[in-house]
Amino acid sequence: MIRELVKHIQEDKEIFKPASKDDLAARTKQRDLEDAKARETFLKNPLVCPYCGATSSADLDYREFDGDHNQVWQNVHCEKCDHDWSEIYTLTDFEANHYN
Ligand SMILES: [Zn+2]
Repeated sequence: MIRELVKHIQEDKEIFKPASKDDLAARTKQRDLEDAKARETFLKNPLVCPYCGATSSADLDYREFDGDHNQVWQNVHCEKCDHDWSEIYTLTDFEANHYN
């Protein structure tokens, strides 16, 4: 029992040990690869979470649109896998409307 407790404490110390620069660089590289793959997946099918494939509106939390003079974006959070991303829209065309 005590031996198991000591083992748990040692494992916790491993978890809370500060990461080395090499660990951080490896994690950043891994995350960048994951994000690049998610971007590719998203551009093929923007209606699902590009990380886990969630499609339900209960899982995908679309925030308010925001924008500037030539772009509009919407931040999205996936409740299922806890990823966040921005959907970015650019101006593509002009069409006149004549109402009278
Ligand atoms: Zn997801």
